[in-house]
Amino acid sequence: MKAHIKLAIFRCLRCGHEWLPEPKRHPDGTIVRDFSKKPKVCPKCKSPYWNVPRGQKRGPKKGTVYKPREQKEEETRGLKRRD
Ligand SMILES: [Zn+2]
Repeated sequence: MKAHIKLAIFRCLRCGHEWLPEPKRHPDGTIVRDFSKKPKVCPKCKSPYWNVPRGQKRGPKKGTVYKPREQKEEETRGLKRRD
């Protein structure tokens, strides 16, 4: 029996790496992990697409795919797919 603990973690859809956001210590001693801020890249494989499912086609049509503001156009072009 595996106890499935529902824990909020980040999980890379590329390499399967799981991690927690960096804890921040408040002046009063409380440690808070901020899940609202999603990391830009997976800390393990450094993929900026760690939260993008693989099924998505490359060469997305303009205007149909949500694009994070900070994502650079060059990074999108430089992405190579390995199947
Ligand atoms: Zn990864």
